[in-house]
Order: sequence, then C-alpha cells, then structure tokens
Amino acid sequence: MRIFAVANQKGGVGKTTTTVNLAAALAQAGQRVLLVDLDPQGNATMGSGVDKRGLALSVYQVLLGLSDIAAARRRGRGVPYDVLPANRELAGAEVELVDLDHREHRLREALEGVGDDYDFVLIDCPPSLSLLTLNGLACAHGVVIPMQCEYYALEGLSDLVNTIKRVHASFNRELKLIGLLRVMYDPRSTLSQQVSAQLEQHFGDKVFRTLVPRNVRLAEAPSYGLPGVLFDRNAKGSQAYGAFAAEMIERARRF
Ligand code: ADP
Ligand code: MG
Repeated sequence: MRIFAVANQKGGVGKTTTTVNLAAALAQAGQRVLLVDLDPQGNATMGSGVDKRGLALSVYQVLLGLSDIAAARRRGRGVPYDVLPANRELAGAEVELVDLDHREHRLREALEGVGDDYDFVLIDCPPSLSLLTLNGLACAHGVVIPMQCEYYALEGLSDLVNTIKRVHASFNRELKLIGLLRVMYDPRSTLSQQVSAQLEQHFGDKVFRTLVPRNVRLAEAPSYGLPGVLFDRNAKGSQAYGAFAAEMIERARRF
C-alpha cells in the first residue's frame, strides 16, 4: 500500500480535482484505491458520488477513534474506488484532537487496519497546514503538490516544503516530496510558460511531465458526482489525468 497526500495550503489550486481524478484513473488502471477526504468542505466526497450530508460515520469518527475505516468507507455509484468521506463535522476534530494521544498519528494508525485492501491511498488535504494536514503528511510516503502556473504560485511553496521537512524530521522518516503537478495550465499564456519553466529550473525532475490543462469538463464533473475522468473520458483534462496516473504508478514503483 502506497500512501500519497495531495497538499497545498492555498485553496482553489486543484487539490480536490487532482485527488478524485487520480483516484479514478488509478482505479481504471486496475489499482485498488482508497480516497481519504481530510477537508471539512467534503468536496472530494461529493465529487466521488457520496453525499456528505447525514453520514453516520466519516473520517471524523475515525480520527477520534470512534470508528474504524472498514465501517466508515463508502463507494459512490459508478465510481471504482472507495472513499473515507468528510463533512463539516470534521472542522471540530481540529480542536478535539489537540488533547488526544498520538494526535498526529490518528490516520496512520487507522490505515493500518485496511493495509491489505488497497494499492494506493490518496489523501485530499484541506487548504491549511493544520493538524488535519499533519495527519495526512504523517502517514504518507509522498506528497503531491498541485500548482497553478501563475504569478503567486511560488509564494507559499517554501512554507509547504518546510512543513514537509519538519514532518519528515519529527513524525515520518518515509515522507518525500514526490512532485509538483502543473494544473489549470494555459499553454497560450506567456506567464504560464514562464512560471512553468521556473518550476522546472528549481525543482528539476520533481516536476511531473504531465501538464493538466484548464478544461471546463473537469469543473463540470463534480455536479454529477463523478470525477472528470469518468464523466467525460475523452476530454483533454481527463486524458491528462490518465497520463498523470501512469506517471504516479511509475514513480510509486521506484520506492
Ligand atoms: P482545491 O481543492 O485546491 O481547493 P479544486 O480542485 O476544488 O481546488 O479546484 C478549484 C476550482 O477549480 C474548482 O471549481 C474546480 O472545478 C476548478 N478546476 C480545478 N482544476 C481545473 C482544471 N484543470 N480546469 C478547469 N477547472 C479546474
Ligand atoms: Mg479541495
């Protein structure tokens, strides 16, 4: 089982879109996948066809030790991977976890119970460097950072890289930055090209080869409770996530 956290403390940069589409594309490639939604907004949950309202069990109960993952996981209609869902209740976990033992390791401990069920676990992190994100990073083998190639893209990246280093030093010696994924890419924009080149210069082969273009089909898909890859497999964005999944399988093999 390989565990990857999709993280970036900025909101609206494509974390959830990346997580659900990677999950779907990996599942289509024959991998057994669990998506863990760690964002109280529950967008990855809804985008995977699971209704976040009225969940009896969610990742919240799992983090607090009130449920195991096997009881809380769900599967949306027509979706080929499992989801450990989230909703607003999860916002309270931040405070409640503070007083618990192993507060950074709650998710890691819970995942041990389903270790044989999956090839990939993908964690959709919230837009913060909070205790929830720490739980994601503390159990992951690798971090995937989606980024938009815009002027402020590099700002904040050093905070995230420092957090990854800190988690590596204190909680999780296995944690690695797997790579930066360029999303919502506009090949006609000079700025996109410049920022993209800058990223390649600074991060070398840590930048995934795949470029995910801005593509309206990816944005429409969540309202149908489906990842874009399943909603319209021929869309340019869906094909890019297919290529990205192949890159992830290749990189996961290497460690
Ligand atoms: P985050 O999880 O980082 O907040 P989202 O994945 O929710 O970001 O993306 C933010 C918004 O951008 C959403 O409305 C989503 O549908 C849209 N979006 C994400 N990736 C793309 C893309 N490649 N093309 C077009 N729209 C996208
Ligand atoms: Mg999100």
